[in-house]
Amino acid sequence: MRRSIFLLATSLVFIANCCKPDNPDGTGEAWRNAASQEKLSGITYQINVYSFADSDGDGWGDLKGITQHLDYLDELGATALWLSPIQSSDSYHGYNVLDYYTINSRLGTEADFRDLIDKAKQRNIGIYMDYVLNHSGQGAWFRSAINSEDSPYRSFYVLSSNPTADVAAGKIDNYAGATNPGMGAWHLAKGGNLGYKGRLHFKVDINAKTVTVTETTEAAQNPNTNSPKCWLWYGSISQHCGLYTTASNVYEITIDIDTSWGFIVCTSNNWAYGTKYGGDGGSITFGQPFKLNNSTAADITFGGDGIWFFGSFDKSMPDLNYGPYATAATSPAFKELANSAGKWIDMGIAGLRLDAVAWIYQNQTKANVSFLKQWYDRCNTEWKARGNRGDIYMVGEAWCDNAEQMAPYYEGLPSNFNFYYWWTLKDRLNKGKGDDFARTVLYFHNLFRRYRSDFIDAIKLSNHDEDRAGSDLNRDQAKMKLAGAVLLTSPGKPFIYQGEELGYWGRKDKGDEYIRTPIKWNRSGAVPSAGLGGKVDNAMLTEDMSVEAQLGDATSVLSVYRRFAKARNEWKALAKGEMEEISSPKSSVALWTMSYEGQTVLVAHNFGSSSATISLENFKFDKTIVSNYAVSVNDTDLTLGPYASAVYLQ
Ligand code: CA
Ligand code: CA
Repeated sequence: MRRSIFLLATSLVFIANCCKPDNPDGTGEAWRNAASQEKLSGITYQINVYSFADSDGDGWGDLKGITQHLDYLDELGATALWLSPIQSSDSYHGYNVLDYYTINSRLGTEADFRDLIDKAKQRNIGIYMDYVLNHSGQGAWFRSAINSEDSPYRSFYVLSSNPTADVAAGKIDNYAGATNPGMGAWHLAKGGNLGYKGRLHFKVDINAKTVTVTETTEAAQNPNTNSPKCWLWYGSISQHCGLYTTASNVYEITIDIDTSWGFIVCTSNNWAYGTKYGGDGGSITFGQPFKLNNSTAADITFGGDGIWFFGSFDKSMPDLNYGPYATAATSPAFKELANSAGKWIDMGIAGLRLDAVAWIYQNQTKANVSFLKQWYDRCNTEWKARGNRGDIYMVGEAWCDNAEQMAPYYEGLPSNFNFYYWWTLKDRLNKGKGDDFARTVLYFHNLFRRYRSDFIDAIKLSNHDEDRAGSDLNRDQAKMKLAGAVLLTSPGKPFIYQGEELGYWGRKDKGDEYIRTPIKWNRSGAVPSAGLGGKVDNAMLTEDMSVEAQLGDATSVLSVYRRFAKARNEWKALAKGEMEEISSPKSSVALWTMSYEGQTVLVAHNFGSSSATISLENFKFDKTIVSNYAVSVNDTDLTLGPYASAVYLQ
């Protein structure tokens, strides 16, 4: 329901109004001490452990570094920390886990982690681990799996000696009926004899982009030295053979072949020219058409005893295999991963962030949701068995094209990242249009509610996989402050990504490292950048960008984040309230109320670059909870300066 309001044209009189005492009525309370409330609406800070804070000067951020900066995180209002993967890994980012039971020694020890959990808990800050379930790294499990058919880890991975045939036959559970099985993601784990020696008939159909190879006893033909457009390359480096045209765009030949690696089809007898057609994983099955791929041109092999594995992201990240989704919880991989999670739950973590959940069963929502429900239930059982209150917090990274596609994931998990919140917010901030923002947030809520009544909307600006908010907002400090203020006054569970609170910028196209920039704690001195291989935008990391400088500046991005976070943590309506849209008389102004247990606050943000004055019938502007930039009140009129924000107690 919307309330009626009136727009009055008034003169603009600005009064600095951002320094009123916090919580003037004394009604603020330490509500965030209640564990269940933290999960619903408390602020989570997202840390790239490798680039956050370095305790021992080796250039790598580490667990002790986080412990040493708990005051900073506490004062930023954090009730939880999401850590980038901390288990053993040989990549800087940690998303290829080599052993789910051990801590990456570069980041610290198990004792360091235990200490962090305990010291954070003393400040009512929980620790969320990043759990990678779609894939592991190439650790001991993987090596065992590919080296022995008798390995207990054999079923942990998606392995095949002939992926093309196995996918076609529906034998790969990982796909769960996917229409696009992503053949380009198959990698050869172990060479065997991939070639062939003997007489074969080749039929290449350029229209259908297939090659059909058949074992034959027919007489061999001489190579066609005048072949117009079709040559097989095989055997030694210069060995190639032209085919004969048998129909339009169809070429055939029977030849004796001797190759150790397979073959490739090329439209020229000169390797430097023409289009190369290869396979995109898998081997020839004699007598069956094999799909050609002219974008990867990987060797087309004859199988032999080669073993292929599926790695949807990268060769260093083989996908884990949980069997048919309906019974995933009974699979050996599931049990082992759940067992490892139990170790950390036992140690005292407060929740999990689940990586790439849309990929567990290759973008198959129904299968993924079923899997996640089984995973959540298993971990929650572990959680309760250890005497914890309530349910364990778990948030999924279900990266879909839109909120409608993501929403069903709420049937599997209590919380999911709302990428669409940020995509909407940045679009509106850059257009200077605020009047439909609250409506859009409520639209998302109605969507999520269809799948789970007690959904926890994990809202955010950018994260470690996206261009920085600062870049998307054209490095405009005023817009960055506004974005932070909007995030911290919105319903849901806000996540602040390391560096957003300092106004960092950075784009992915220069390398992911540039969106994972270290925290610059002091005006001078080194930043923890060893993991980033020198890919740090030092031009951005000026002295003014440092925590030290921004703490001393009441107008800094950091100070704005701290003020709004403090307000959220002191005013229960702001954190936990039910949102209600207030119809806005100015297109640039976003308006809503938040109400909880008799407390109501009015939230106003000006997304525009010029001042906006509004009058709201039935609303008071006499008790400011928090504000930023020029905000003034003249009797019944509220004037918001460019990109200004204000929250009023009603
Ligand atoms: Ca270190
Ligand atoms: Ca997968």
